Amino acid sequence: MNEAGIVGAGTMGTGIALAIAGAGLSAHVVDSSPEALARGRAAIEATYRSSVERGKLSRDEADARRARIAFSGDVSAFSGVELVIEAAFEDLTVKRSVFEKLGNVVRANALLATNTSSLDIDAVTGGVPHPERALGMHFFSPANVMKLIEIVRGAHTSDDTIRASLAFAERLGKVGVVVGNCDGFVGNRMLLRYRREAELLLERGATPAQVDAALERFGFAMGPFAVSDLAGLDIAYNSKRERNARGNGVRFRQSLIPDLLVESGRLGQKTGGGYYRYEPGRRERLSAAATDELIAAERRRLGLVPATIPDEEVVERCTLALINEGARILAEGIARRPADIDAVWRYGYGFPAARGGPMAYAASLDRGELLSRLRVFEQSDPAFWNAAVVERALEKEYPPSAAGSR
Ligand code: NAD
Repeated sequence: MNEAGIVGAGTMGTGIALAIAGAGLSAHVVDSSPEALARGRAAIEATYRSSVERGKLSRDEADARRARIAFSGDVSAFSGVELVIEAAFEDLTVKRSVFEKLGNVVRANALLATNTSSLDIDAVTGGVPHPERALGMHFFSPANVMKLIEIVRGAHTSDDTIRASLAFAERLGKVGVVVGNCDGFVGNRMLLRYRREAELLLERGATPAQVDAALERFGFAMGPFAVSDLAGLDIAYNSKRERNARGNGVRFRQSLIPDLLVESGRLGQKTGGGYYRYEPGRRERLSAAATDELIAAERRRLGLVPATIPDEEVVERCTLALINEGARILAEGIARRPADIDAVWRYGYGFPAARGGPMAYAASLDRGELLSRLRVFEQSDPAFWNAAVVERALEKEYPPSAAGSR
């Protein structure tokens, strides 16, 4: 593979272009908005300039990479490419119309990938001629830095397409993990459950700083609330609303705290505050009285008296939420093996590498204790926890004989 097309010159499109050019391949970036195209080009320029200034890249190498990225307003630029990655707005109608156009322009054997994070791959790519070459390639932001690509298999995706996509990921120096097509795929599906536990801990008396610090001590690169502030709380808020509108909402209880923060204008770092407060241009997490008050009001509404929650419980509940959903993902065949789930969480979500990943971590725990904790949780919240599914997954994937005496 030598040449790839990218639709969308936004955050993801430009990051993907940088990754492609950095691997010695050519990228054609197309955007329907001339302003967006100019912004994308400027963002790419700025990245190369800063890499040269910081001594990360020689001027010659930066020039060579820049020369491998072309910009255009029209997908007819894609006539010779072997792969197109669509990174336009997260909107089914927009994406479907992009794929309709692509079907008429690109070669019949060119791979057609969507970078959607929350839409159904088959709904996005449905209708393209030769649907066996259509798939999801879910990059993570910033795409020129983050190692993970979830390679999402659609209903018609062929094994050749999967193989070629894995080879492409490797060529970019990234880790491609094959996953099934479901809401959130592997990573974001587990993230929703992990965050859900973290948010319920706030209702019960924990603070964002306590939860983040406990999980960072466990080894996470960043705690869940700091990550939410960085990514923007509106992302999860909007996908929750869309999921509910599609009748595809989750069936377990979720805290309203993140919704209330969004509705009060606290979207995270980009608005100067979310769970924390940030001084302009700085990333240091400062405590936010407005957030503390909002959490306190929500506790009052729920009739909850704040309790002291040990750090061990913070870590236990959040990691068990990952294990619980990871087991369901294995049972459904959305991931083929626990190591794939572990790779997604290590390379895409900052799970501590030394612990292997959520499933390897589960296998390292005392099995009897793990299952008995899950059963206790399940008794009070059976819509969320499922000890039997975890038990079956661990039995199958880590049988006692292979794991030694447990
Ligand atoms: P963005 O808004 O920064 O960029 C989208 C770009 O697509 C814009 O420049 C827009 O002008 C362009 N565009 C819209 N319709 C188009 C069309 N019909 N033809 C050509 N260009 C068109 O969005 P983003 O954050 O880069 O996200 C892009 C996609 O990647 C979305 O599907 C998003 O869900 C997904 N994604 C985003 C992230 C993230 O962290 N930002 C992570 C993973 C996946």
